[in-house]
Amino acid sequence: MNTQKNLGNWLEKIAGTYPLMIAGPCSAESEEQVLATAKGLAGDKRIQVYRAGVWKPRTRPGNFEGHGKKALPWLKKVKEQTGLKIAIEIANAAHARLALEYDMDILWIGARTSVNPFAVQEIADTIKNTDKIVLIKNPVNPDLSLWIGAVERFFRSGIKNLGVIHRGFSSFRPGNYRNEPQWQIALQFKDKYPNIPLIIDPSHICGRRDCIYDIAQQALDLKYQGFMIETHINPDEAWSDARQQIKPGKLKDIIDKLCLRKQRFQDPKAIDKINFYREQINQLDDELLELLSERMKLAENIGKLKKQKNVAVLQRNRWKEIMDKALYKGNKLGLSKKFVEKIFLAIHQESIEKQEHILKQKKSKLN
Ligand code: PEP
Ligand code: MN
Repeated sequence: MNTQKNLGNWLEKIAGTYPLMIAGPCSAESEEQVLATAKGLAGDKRIQVYRAGVWKPRTRPGNFEGHGKKALPWLKKVKEQTGLKIAIEIANAAHARLALEYDMDILWIGARTSVNPFAVQEIADTIKNTDKIVLIKNPVNPDLSLWIGAVERFFRSGIKNLGVIHRGFSSFRPGNYRNEPQWQIALQFKDKYPNIPLIIDPSHICGRRDCIYDIAQQALDLKYQGFMIETHINPDEAWSDARQQIKPGKLKDIIDKLCLRKQRFQDPKAIDKINFYREQINQLDDELLELLSERMKLAENIGKLKKQKNVAVLQRNRWKEIMDKALYKGNKLGLSKKFVEKIFLAIHQESIEKQEHILKQKKSKLN
C-alpha cells in the first residue's frame, strides 16, 4: 500500500474539526425505530454519520438477522430528513450491489467478514473504483496481518477512502470486556498506516453500557480520529446487542464529557519538573529489579536446601505469612490490597518456578 497517500481525507470533509462520530442502532428494526433514533441524534454537529445493521451476522441461528433490502429505503429517508451520512455493514457481493444501488455513503466490513479473504475480495471487486468510504473492522481474532490484508484488497481495487474500526478481539477466557481491546494491535496498525483514520467502537469492546465512556476517552488520548457507538431510541427493547446500546441523550452526555487532552507538556518549567521525577523513577525501577534479582537468588538457595532435604516446594503457611505481612505493610504505605496481592503473587510464582526447576534437576540425576 502506498502509505504516502492520504487515504483519510474523507474524514475531515465529513466531520470538520470534530472527531468523527458514527451513531445509530445495532440493527434497523422498523422504519419508526430507525427514524426516531435518527431524530434523537440529528442536529448536533458532533454526530455526523448514522449507522444501522441491515444484514446482521449472528453467532447462533434463530436470532434476528436483519430486514435486509427492505430497510434500505428507511435509511435513505434518514439521509433526506436529517442530512446525516449513512453507514451500513456489508458482508458479500450481493449486499455490496444493493448498497451501491441505494447510494449508501459508508460501507463497513464487519469483524466476521474481515477474517475471510474470499468475502473481502468479492466485495472489493463489486465496489471497485467507486468513491465509497469503506471502514474495515478488525477481524475477530487478534491477527494484524489479516486486518492489513483486508485493507490492501480494497486499496488495490481502487478504493481511496479508507478507514479502520477497532472493535476488540474475542477471547475464550471470560474477562472484563465482551471483546478484549488489545490496544497494541490497533496502535501497530496506526504506526504502519498513519494516513488511514482509526476509529474506536467502544460498544462492541465493552458489551455493556457502563464502560463506553472510558474506552472512548482512552481512544481519544491515543489519538484515534473517530467513534462508532451503538445508539437506540429504546435500548432495553433492542432486538440485538441490547446491553451495550445507549439512548441518543446519553451519547450526547458522553460527548460532552470527552476531553481532548494534550499529548505533551508544553511549559518548560513543567518539563523540567517531570524530567526530575522521571529520573528518580528510573533510578527506583533499577533498584526494584536489583532487589527482585537478589530475592530470587535467596529463593534459589532455599530451593537447593529443599532439594537436599527432600522437602516440598510449596509451603502454604509460609506463603500465607509472606502475603499477610506484605498486605499489612502495603496498607500502611498507602498501596492498595489488589496491587500488593498481584505483585506478591507474581513474585511468589516466580520463586516457585525457580525452586521447581532446581528440584527437577535432582530427579533427572537420580534416574
Ligand atoms: C455491528 O457493528 O453491529 C457488528 C456486528 O459489529 P462487529 O462486526 O464488530 O461484531
Ligand atoms: Mn451490534
